[in-house]
Amino acid sequence: MAEQLNPKSMNKVFIDIEVEDSIHDDAAIAAKLEEVCPVDIYKDAGGSVEIVDENVDECVLCRLCIEASPPGTVHVKKLYDGTELR
Ligand code: SF4
Repeated sequence: MAEQLNPKSMNKVFIDIEVEDSIHDDAAIAAKLEEVCPVDIYKDAGGSVEIVDENVDECVLCRLCIEASPPGTVHVKKLYDGTELR
């Protein structure tokens, strides 16, 4: 039987994004992240930071999310080379 392609498994192939618990429910940061990311990876979900999985691989490594949040709270991981955006 042919293997089914799960569309969800096709996300986050090149990039993974993580935010620390300390900012997850920070309404100001949630709004700011939604505003700055040019490819809509962050969603302000009623004052919480939500990651839009299907957009994560569109990341253009612009660092705007890192600059918009306290140091070390947003991690943009380049899965293809094992490094993280600084
Ligand atoms: S680096 Fe730029 S494109 Fe990537 S998640 Fe952050 S704001 Fe969005």
